[in-house]
Amino acid sequence: MPSERPGWTPAAETQTGSPAPLPAGWRWDNSYARLPEGLHSSVQPTPVSQPRWGIFNQDLATTLGLDGNALGQPGQVGFFVGNRLFEGSEPIAQAYAGHQFGNLARLGDGRAILLGEHLDPQGRRWDIQLKGPGLTPYSRGGDGRAALGPMLREYLMSEAMHALGIPTTRSLAVALTGEPVFRETTLPGAVLTRIAASHIRVGTFELFSAMGDIQALKTLALYTLQRHFPERADDPKPGKTLLEEVIERQSALVAQWMRVGFVHGVLNTDNVALSGETIDYGPCAFIDAYDPATVFSSIDRQGRYAFGNQPKITSWNLARFAEALLPILDPDEATAVEVAQACLEAFPARFQRNWLAAYRGKLGLLTEEDGDAGLIEELLGWMHSTQADFTQTFCMLRPIGPGQSESTAPTLNTDQENMTHSESTAPDPKFFDWHQRWNERLQRQSLPLPRVLECMHRNNPVVIPRNHVVQAALDAASEQNDWTPFHTLLAALRSPYQEAGAPDSLRNPPPPGTPRCRTFCGT
Ligand code: AMP
Ligand code: MG
Repeated sequence: MPSERPGWTPAAETQTGSPAPLPAGWRWDNSYARLPEGLHSSVQPTPVSQPRWGIFNQDLATTLGLDGNALGQPGQVGFFVGNRLFEGSEPIAQAYAGHQFGNLARLGDGRAILLGEHLDPQGRRWDIQLKGPGLTPYSRGGDGRAALGPMLREYLMSEAMHALGIPTTRSLAVALTGEPVFRETTLPGAVLTRIAASHIRVGTFELFSAMGDIQALKTLALYTLQRHFPERADDPKPGKTLLEEVIERQSALVAQWMRVGFVHGVLNTDNVALSGETIDYGPCAFIDAYDPATVFSSIDRQGRYAFGNQPKITSWNLARFAEALLPILDPDEATAVEVAQACLEAFPARFQRNWLAAYRGKLGLLTEEDGDAGLIEELLGWMHSTQADFTQTFCMLRPIGPGQSESTAPTLNTDQENMTHSESTAPDPKFFDWHQRWNERLQRQSLPLPRVLECMHRNNPVVIPRNHVVQAALDAASEQNDWTPFHTLLAALRSPYQEAGAPDSLRNPPPPGTPRCRTFCGT
């Protein structure tokens, strides 16, 4: 296969030297647009009548080596709705398929346009994509547009995930179009500028596999290896290498979601990025009370994408990826299936390893013991049965310090009422028993208390985007044009592990009796 390298050029630097810097620091090098036609279609954004700024991410602009002051000016907003094009961009819509709730469908960027790729000063390559800029050849029955609320939701959630240290696409801007979009009600239209390591998905491979286009599969596999796993780009078996690497990144990603209580909500294969970034913030939300069956999405009636199902469904999605790769895993079909199976069988152990590492961190365990998984599961079982708040429980866990005994130490550093949905504040013997065993475990690792606490602080966020708070902030911005709650929440979410700072109103669970929020795909 390496001898069949296709005619794409991996990076402009290797061809012509670095692309020349353009105004505001842009350095475009659109390698995906250079891939053969069929993988994408050229398309122009549809201009809108009255663009105006919603929000611009100065911080991210700086990370990307862009002049945020110049780009965030009132006169520049046209670029962020697609009325104007940055010099050097080459807008395309990407072709892909996807298993949506288990059924394969032909999709593609129906309401997104990839402007191109920007190379930052460190040489990292970023997709710059507009979400909601009008019709594309893949829009099917849709309008190619997005509403302000869901785009602000993506901005908030993706930036929160980034601050939590979890791989994710990011949000550079939300601009209003000045035009309505028609959903169940009439809503203000908006365009999000999404930044991603790439937008190559499991579904991208599924499309060309379903079409029997082996050449496109090979091209994509080599391109993806070069772009995301360059150190293994010359491996003799690129299909297998890619499968192994993607399995590793997905197992790490889903373990991180489980660490912070994140429910993606629509884990269709078109929403699984091979870069290992969290992508497509539709109906996602964070759990309050711990319950693995938690579902927020209004369309996920069977709980397919419930919180606790995410590892299993990721494994299912990876099996679809392996299937799509079969034609390039080995010329002999039976051997290809064996290779795929061997790779897939590694997932449960990889996930378990990443999950254990994450949860050991949450409990301040810096060493490993066989019983750790059991200890963690017991705590989770207790949290489930008492409807304890996931985030606050971990924040309030306190090891017994030197000179304290179990009976004098505060086991949870707060009143239970604040922490759980139940009204009961009675001491809980089950928790007490668990706490004692956790402390014995901590003592066996013989590490100073500050190290344990530092580890716990690093792994247990204090502030997460709680649904009731997020919804209130989005409603205020999109319905009353009051952006203060949105900015206050965003600022708190930028330092999720800091004890000081965020007001209780942003940190506390919803008041008892608050109905679980329903979320929507925003289409
Ligand atoms: P999503 O639920 O955002 O992952 O989208 C699934 C598919 O539907 C993708 O192919 C999208 O491009 C497409 N889609 C979602 N919303 C729209 C829309 N308003 N117009 C056109 N296509 C859309
Ligand atoms: Mg999607």
